[in-house]
Amino acid sequence: MPSFVTHLEGAIDGARLPARVVHTLHEGRPIWVRYDLDAVRSAVSPADLIGRRNDMWRYRELLPVEHESDIISLGEGMTPLLKCSALGARLGVEDLWIKDESQLPTGSFKARGLAMAVNMASAFGIKRVAIPTAGNAGGALAAYAARAGMDAYIFMPADTPIVNQFESIQFGATVIRVNGLITDCGAMVKAGQEEMQWFDVSTLKEPYRIEGKKTMGLELAEQFDWNLPDVIVYPTGGGTGLIGMWKAFHELKELGWLKSDHMPRMVAVQSDGCCPVVRAFDAGDKFCTFFENASTIAKGLRVPAAVGDFMILDAVRSSEGTAIAVDETMLRAWMTLGASTTGISTGPETAACIGAVEILRAKRWINHGERVLIFNCGALQKNVELFDSDLPVFEPGEPIDWKTLGA
Ligand SMILES: *Cc1c(COP(=O)(O)O)cnc(C)c1O
Repeated sequence: MPSFVTHLEGAIDGARLPARVVHTLHEGRPIWVRYDLDAVRSAVSPADLIGRRNDMWRYRELLPVEHESDIISLGEGMTPLLKCSALGARLGVEDLWIKDESQLPTGSFKARGLAMAVNMASAFGIKRVAIPTAGNAGGALAAYAARAGMDAYIFMPADTPIVNQFESIQFGATVIRVNGLITDCGAMVKAGQEEMQWFDVSTLKEPYRIEGKKTMGLELAEQFDWNLPDVIVYPTGGGTGLIGMWKAFHELKELGWLKSDHMPRMVAVQSDGCCPVVRAFDAGDKFCTFFENASTIAKGLRVPAAVGDFMILDAVRSSEGTAIAVDETMLRAWMTLGASTTGISTGPETAACIGAVEILRAKRWINHGERVLIFNCGALQKNVELFDSDLPVFEPGEPIDWKTLGA
């Protein structure tokens, strides 16, 4: 079955671009994928999804792949949507949910975008890919490149979590550690392109990672029986997921699949150690300015400049959402609160979201009774460097004073 893609579209100027050819940026900015939604509406309805494969490819009519039989997959998608009453009680939000993306291949939601990018690159006959990464995108690319039989070159800051370095190497990628940030890594991918002839799968620099991340929005709509939550709280680095979900919701609305036109308010969460989107939002700017000296333990949020900045800001503003920077020094406490009250493997990026919900509820920006959804974008165990406790060691049979163990 061929895809329903009609054309691509420059996000900065709306220019119509041809489908089915290799694209990177247009006018230095990202590109949207557009579908014939009338034809999709005639071809498929929500009821047809029942019984399909239980991963993100169940939404194939809204995805750019041409032949389902060719899909390169590690089973990504349909992550659990979990009600979190105990955490909700702590934050004053009764109807709190977490979509647990830590259960995806390589332990983060980067799997969705990179699965799509690698599938499309593979369909175009591309054999060599490169990426700058704060960590998880590199691990995900390495895994899908291994599965697709592609060569991957992964540029990451030297202090990237060790698990990301380890997994990328184990999946057979060439890892280049850089004494700098993801933006420095991006410049090195660009500089090496002519000599190495690789395809750059940086966030938003090819059109398809958005389409992969879009499936988060499709899934949660289906899981909530085609009713969207009131507030979606998203830890924002490059912003692909926030942009992709907002696109998904509009496609679903146009298809008539949603039971109400009520759209969620999108919240972009950052740490005050790196918050270019929040600064631009507060200033009323269309674009972000480079965030100097970016520093946060939430490595997925350590993105001082994003090529899709205006798309993030558009989505946040048109949803009547907000952008909020939380206190970096609180992340560890929120991370522990999240994991210990939910059993979900919450990483530091999710911790920022938990903090944001606490603050927004206290400010009454989140109203009583509203349904709030947090994305758990990456697994706790990808951040072993954050384990700094010094547990005592007992001899076998040694008596234990339980009171001192905090029982
Ligand atoms: C990449 C990443 C983010 C940021 O996601 P974007 O869609 O790029 O904004 C947040 N958390 C984790 C764990 C990540 O890996």
